[in-house]
Amino acid sequence: MAKREILVCGDPRLRRKALPVRDFSEDLAQLVQDMVEAMVEADGLGLAAPQVGEAAQVIVLRREDDPDAAPVCLVNPKTVKAEGEVQQTEGCLSLPTLYGHVLRPESAVVAGYTPEGEELEVTGEGRLAQALMHEIDHLRGKLFIDRVLPDSLRWLVPDPEEEDGYRFEPTDLPEAMAAFERLRQKREERGGR
Ligand code: ZN
Repeated sequence: MAKREILVCGDPRLRRKALPVRDFSEDLAQLVQDMVEAMVEADGLGLAAPQVGEAAQVIVLRREDDPDAAPVCLVNPKTVKAEGEVQQTEGCLSLPTLYGHVLRPESAVVAGYTPEGEELEVTGEGRLAQALMHEIDHLRGKLFIDRVLPDSLRWLVPDPEEEDGYRFEPTDLPEAMAAFERLRQKREERGGR
């Protein structure tokens, strides 16, 4: 099991602004390793440090275009360029099984540092641009539900009758927030963080 639990929406730590990393230390390398582990275990495409309770400007991303490639890690990422606009379906490991439509740039260039302190620039198109913007949002305490297009929120519900084994069920923000609050309480009772 991953060492760090992914926080669920409603946790105030998800709404804090993350601070720039100044010390490219072993602690940072450990945080990145823990984040990659938590992301892979949860089968997510990306993760930001606030999602594991750390107010640090660190994001990790899986290369969906190249699943065998090592995950990308960016420290202190800044958006250098964002072009175009496209409607995408989005989800988040901190809002499990909830999906909605958001507008994201078609392409984006993000500059930052590797965990070793080397400069790194990442250019993303389509889903990678979307993932970069989603994770950078987390560093500002923003979640995709803050940008979601009206009436597009839905739950992914298991359904053996369906060909894919699941279906989507419409929901709204108050109902979704209440569901995450119940999930958080359940975890707390279990002794989770
Ligand atoms: Zn997220």
